[in-house]
Amino acid sequence: LPEPREVPASGRAPASESLDDWGLLPHDPDWAGGLRETWEPGEPAARRRLREFLAEDVGAYDRARDRPSAGATSLLSPRLRWGELSPHTVWHAAIEAHDTSRFLSELGWREFAWHTLYHFPELATKNLRREFDAFPWPRLKPTALRAWQRGETGYAIVDAGMKELWHTGYMHNRARMVTASFLIKNLLIDWRHGEEWFWDTLVDADGANNPFNWQWVAGSGADAAPYFRVFNPELQAQKFDPDGHYIAQWAPEHRGEEGLAPAPIVDLKATRQRALAAYEQVKQAARSGN
Ligand SMILES: Cc1cc2nc3c(=O)[nH]c(=O)nc-3n(C[C@H](O)[C@H](O)[C@H](O)COP(=O)(O)OP(=O)(O)OC[C@H]3O[C@@H](n4cnc5c(N)ncnc54)[C@H](O)[C@@H]3O)c2cc1C
Repeated sequence: LPEPREVPASGRAPASESLDDWGLLPHDPDWAGGLRETWEPGEPAARRRLREFLAEDVGAYDRARDRPSAGATSLLSPRLRWGELSPHTVWHAAIEAHDTSRFLSELGWREFAWHTLYHFPELATKNLRREFDAFPWPRLKPTALRAWQRGETGYAIVDAGMKELWHTGYMHNRARMVTASFLIKNLLIDWRHGEEWFWDTLVDADGANNPFNWQWVAGSGADAAPYFRVFNPELQAQKFDPDGHYIAQWAPEHRGEEGLAPAPIVDLKATRQRALAAYEQVKQAARSGN
């Protein structure tokens, strides 16, 4: 629809409190410095980024989108989340730019997540696949959850991802998959705890995309990752951060002198076996119809 020429408003503002008096902005401590450095909120900045991405970056998207240090993705997720851009605007701009990359299909994933939420409003709290209700989650170990939240697991790419998230409110998709897999499969912590942390800390925290992707990683969701796929964070780092730039940027303690990085909080091999045994129980329960 064309833009309205004017939006009639009352000439007299009603008596009101001042927003500053509400003290909504964080102080003591001011934890939002990294967010201010990283983002310029608002529609003009969102449109600028869309234009710049389609003119300069989309050509490298297919090749480099999986490498967290490459800066090859659009960074449009918070713009879509907050309605600074509509998915229609982004879609048509990409078509007009003759984009043939996988970018459009990622927008399709977003649609799929929203479609799933529409049909399953409890996506953030209930397993989409009910057989996962039989998953034998052990009692929560708060220290393990805290180590994950703070990026102190001792695994470089996990720690880098969690610190990027805390500093910028964003985490690259590859790191989201690796950190989520680590929480669920290596720490055996219920995906809902991870979903809640992402919900609290992501600037693009999205009511559909967030739980949809957590359930995808857990294996309980729509078209989910196969349950036996347990990412090995060391191999993931070798493959997707081969020159170590991402880790150097966000978790430099892992690149420095011996002894600065936290010790690994779990053994990868043993926890992988434990996860596979737990998933086997879900399969058994599904077979026996429980
Ligand atoms: C555990 C986990 C949690 C996630 N939580 C969120 C979330 O809260 N909000 C969110 O927007 N995305 C979430 N994602 C999906 C994805 O990581 C982000 O959309 C993407 O990293 C945003 O960066 P970008 O805009 O540069 O993406 P691009 O690669 O440029 O993709 C373009 C757009 O496509 C959509 N998109 C891309 N990947 C996905 C996907 N896997 N599922 C749904 N839509 C996608 C996004 O709207 C994104 O802005 C999550 C992924 C995982 C594994």
